[in-house]
Amino acid sequence: MIKFHPDTNMLAEYVNGRLDWAVSICVAAHLQMCTQCRQEVANLNAIGGFLLSSDENHNSDAEDAKLAAPQNLDTQSVDDSVESEAKSDKFANLMKTIRQSEDNPIVVKKQAPMLANCHARDEALKEIPPIVKKLLPEQEIKWTRISKALKMARLKAGQEKYEMAFHRISSGGQVAEHNHRGLEITMVLHGSFSDSGGIYTPGDFIVKKPGEVHKPRATEDRECLCLSVVEAPVAVTGWVGKLVNPFLKIKPA
Ligand SMILES: [Zn+2]
Repeated sequence: MIKFHPDTNMLAEYVNGRLDWAVSICVAAHLQMCTQCRQEVANLNAIGGFLLSSDENHNSDAEDAKLAAPQNLDTQSVDDSVESEAKSDKFANLMKTIRQSEDNPIVVKKQAPMLANCHARDEALKEIPPIVKKLLPEQEIKWTRISKALKMARLKAGQEKYEMAFHRISSGGQVAEHNHRGLEITMVLHGSFSDSGGIYTPGDFIVKKPGEVHKPRATEDRECLCLSVVEAPVAVTGWVGKLVNPFLKIKPA
């Protein structure tokens, strides 16, 4: 069961198309795995539509008022009550739409794009969300070994601010403790890992803010594959950092 989700602010930014492309890919991948957040996005869309329509009505009311002849107070208060009744009707309709959609959860059609032959034998890639499948190169993925337990493959993020990559931790493997100079988003795609914040399983969306230090370890039962988006170079702390830092320099694609 998914326990870690993007917060409402991030979902609202996603709905408004204001997230950076790399971050919005992570949110979209999470949405393909998480019914709860799909619901929240549907509600945010409904609320956005409601606000937009009240705003339009409000503006046209204001324009009508400018054109209209001066009214006496009695007519004004009747008009106000008619207007507030119309607004409360619209709000009731909005709430009805939200309740109805909550009764009928939004289902994502599982017509995932086929994996290219070179990836098909990779167990960890079989269950990944369709949007992540689309990011896979046609050729074999180039994995770079970062440490005994960790391999990384950069993905084309098409922008400079973020680096997008797959990280693969071997079963029971420990990643060097590291912190971040920028935002780091990790989406678990296969297997699970833990750090001081909890145990993360497929679909979990983990946000680490600048300065947060963590030391992920994959569970013993299987390897763990994650999609991650990192805003700025990662700094590895401790003596291991001196060895692996050169490999972790950000290289946006
Ligand atoms: Zn969610």
